[in-house]
Amino acid sequence: MNKYIKLTDAIAITNQTGAHETKKRLKELPGEDVKPVIRMKWVGVTPLTDSLQCSNCGYCVVSDEFITPYCPWCGARMEVPPDEQQGHA
Ligand SMILES: [Zn+2]
Repeated sequence: MNKYIKLTDAIAITNQTGAHETKKRLKELPGEDVKPVIRMKWVGVTPLTDSLQCSNCGYCVVSDEFITPYCPWCGARMEVPPDEQQGHA
């Protein structure tokens, strides 16, 4: 099982100790419970409709008025298309 630690804690240890001590102290850091983030995007179902679907599970919305930052069905985080990021900078 993977163990997740804070990067700032790991950097502090590597700055303070030698290689052998660093390895020992990194293993002693408390692990964090984290859930992997699934990053997907809304994609067009067909060019003839405004419907969009989650690229992970296929959940559909009828138009871009109903898109959300997360898929309501599978919970995937939806990436903002690059052309929309430039407009809101
Ligand atoms: Zn989904």
